[in-house]
Amino acid sequence: MPSPTIVWFRDDLRISDHPALHWAIERGEPIVALYLFDQHSPEIRPLGSASKWWLHRSLLALDTSLRELGSALTLRSGPARETIAALVSEVGAGAIAWNRRYGASRAIDQDLKAQLRAQGVDAHSFHANVLFEPWTITTKDDKPFQVFTPFWRSCLSGEPPRQPLSTPTALPAVESVESEQLAEWALEPDSPEWSASLSDHWTPGEDGANDRLGAFLETGLALYHRRDEPGIDATSMLSPHLRFGEISPHQVWHQTHQVTQPDARANVEKFLSEIGWREFTINVAYQHPQLHTQNIKPAFDQFPWRWPENSELEPWHRGLTGIPLVDAGMRQLLRTGYMHNRVRMVTASFLVKNMLVHWRLGEQWFWDRLVDADEANNPGSWQWVAGCGTDAAPYFRVFNPVVQADRFDPDGSYRRKWLPEWGTDDYPDPILDLKESRGRALSAFDATKASPLTG
Ligand SMILES: Cc1cc2nc3c(=O)[nH]c(=O)nc-3n(C[C@H](O)[C@H](O)[C@H](O)COP(=O)(O)OP(=O)(O)OC[C@H]3O[C@@H](n4cnc5c(N)ncnc54)[C@H](O)[C@@H]3O)c2cc1C
Repeated sequence: MPSPTIVWFRDDLRISDHPALHWAIERGEPIVALYLFDQHSPEIRPLGSASKWWLHRSLLALDTSLRELGSALTLRSGPARETIAALVSEVGAGAIAWNRRYGASRAIDQDLKAQLRAQGVDAHSFHANVLFEPWTITTKDDKPFQVFTPFWRSCLSGEPPRQPLSTPTALPAVESVESEQLAEWALEPDSPEWSASLSDHWTPGEDGANDRLGAFLETGLALYHRRDEPGIDATSMLSPHLRFGEISPHQVWHQTHQVTQPDARANVEKFLSEIGWREFTINVAYQHPQLHTQNIKPAFDQFPWRWPENSELEPWHRGLTGIPLVDAGMRQLLRTGYMHNRVRMVTASFLVKNMLVHWRLGEQWFWDRLVDADEANNPGSWQWVAGCGTDAAPYFRVFNPVVQADRFDPDGSYRRKWLPEWGTDDYPDPILDLKESRGRALSAFDATKASPLTG
């Protein structure tokens, strides 16, 4: 009598370097490859529109890979605790395996593991989606790091990340498990005009991720020292692929170490330290599961951020503030579901400091529109810009978008690309005075008593 293994795919939509799948194959029983669309469990943050667009395509790609191995993706929707338990009894599963996640949803995984093990089901979780699991990197006093540099130094001082696992060549499938239809989930946006151009820029799925890494290592990495210049292709654009786990950080780590070209080699350490920022922010989310709703520094709960109507945010959403670098960034986001890191910092600073709008409203817009919207990186970075996060930029450091543009887009190529009407009569006047609004932000900061806020 077979005792199938369920492999529960989550933020790891790949078949290579997939420890849970690897274990299931070694177990030797037929495999149910499950993706569960859970928008009901309280610990799950419902996906934004761009993430749904991506997920739809990534699931199609995963299903294709699984079919090539003789299996297929089984789709189910509903709250994880109930839906997984029901599937386990439906297929008579003897085991279930998944790769670990580290945000609020780990409470679901803990409950399920205990519940299933109590029923005699062999439930296993695996280390897959980070290089270093959060509880393994602590200070001498066994506390979580609050500052990136010592955190990353500590990561690098131990054993290097393990080698990626091999890609399976065949999967023993369970016959006749019913699957929902992907189209029923309506992941595709209702209003196609903003999403129409996303596919010009991205190929969701494991092949797209590997192609992206390959191209970056071949040409982009040698330019990575210019990663702050939004007008050139100097960064990897791997963020949505990492977010959905179409490639693992172990694969990125080891392939990056294999480059031989001297200009590229010179940037390996810097590039991997950005992967380190991803690790750090996941670590922060592990410590603060409510990262998208609560200031890490509670003193900022008193800060007089405004919570205006959507209509007041429209110029920022649409890239019509009259500040060229801000508008170019917001247009890049609308057109591609992505924004260059330097410009993310500038647009976010403009919202939370010059416009004095609560970071959560900006975070929500990015959450909806970014293809790489990530439950750790997005709120973690917003809190970093707003000054209320871990190892954050100090509140009194206000990015000046004009100075930033002169410095990082000196020939205007980025602004011209996303803002064709820049410099014509069609381009709007600025919605605010940069100097005056900076002063207002700093006074608000002083009024909330500077000292506890900087601590
Ligand atoms: C306001 C704001 C919001 C952000 N929201 C997100 C988000 O939702 N998802 C997201 O993945 N990143 C987010 N970032 C971080 C960063 O902007 C993106 O990771 C980066 O721009 C992705 O481009 P890339 O893949 O070409 O980066 P590369 O420079 O090629 O970096 C490689 C990888 O390292 C990681 N990384 C790079 N920079 C950072 C960083 N500062 N913090 C954490 N990880 C980093 C990403 O996984 C990235 O793919 C945000 C930054 C800001 C300022």
